[in-house]
Amino acid sequence: MLKLRQIHLVKAAGWMFISFLFLWNIKVFAEPYKCSNEDVTVYTERQSEIAFACSAIDKTYTFLRTAGLIKHVSIDLHIVSELPKHNRSELCLGHYKKTEKGVYILSYNTCRCRIIENGFWDLNFSRDLYNSFIVHEIAHAIAGAHFEVESHSIAAEEYIPYTTQIALMPEGLRQELLTKITNEGFKNEEEITSLFHDLSPSVFAVKAYRHFRRKENGSNFYQKILKGKCKLNGEE
Ligand SMILES: [Zn+2]
Repeated sequence: MLKLRQIHLVKAAGWMFISFLFLWNIKVFAEPYKCSNEDVTVYTERQSEIAFACSAIDKTYTFLRTAGLIKHVSIDLHIVSELPKHNRSELCLGHYKKTEKGVYILSYNTCRCRIIENGFWDLNFSRDLYNSFIVHEIAHAIAGAHFEVESHSIAAEEYIPYTTQIALMPEGLRQELLTKITNEGFKNEEEITSLFHDLSPSVFAVKAYRHFRRKENGSNFYQKILKGKCKLNGEE
């Protein structure tokens, strides 16, 4: 990605050329914006997205801090029109790159187009739904910094982001989702498998949320996952 340092080099060129390139750079390579409450830098072409993103980010940090994920986590959030290539990129709306602590999420308009075409959890696209995607990916980054075991399954990786996402949805949207997907919660950790997630992420998400809501689970279960104390089926 072209960084600010390179934009300065562009400014050294002639004025006509500058104005063309400068506008081009503003459109394609947005300047970073630091959210006021958390150590998250947002990169987006559309300034109007920043307040929504920072609000979703604040809620995610607060929720997970309350659940015991208290480490300082610094994140770069990139709102992009195309995700960086990885093994499931064509199916994804967002992606967390653990190696660079970077979260990539498709822009509001790109997500809207994809969801109109392919659907998502049988819900209509809305700002609240889009914000929940940001919550999900930020939760990946925060949880990722708290894992105390090197290797963990997809099911272990996805449990915290999905339950955080649904917990932080506005009541109306959450109820709509829970009314559409009526499957009961996972009964025990043996049922929470990566295969289940891969076959039906939406049902996995709702079953995980209903499992999480039981008082014996909640943040205790987060800690079990993070400390590697529960071997979700599918874990090597
Ligand atoms: Zn995920």
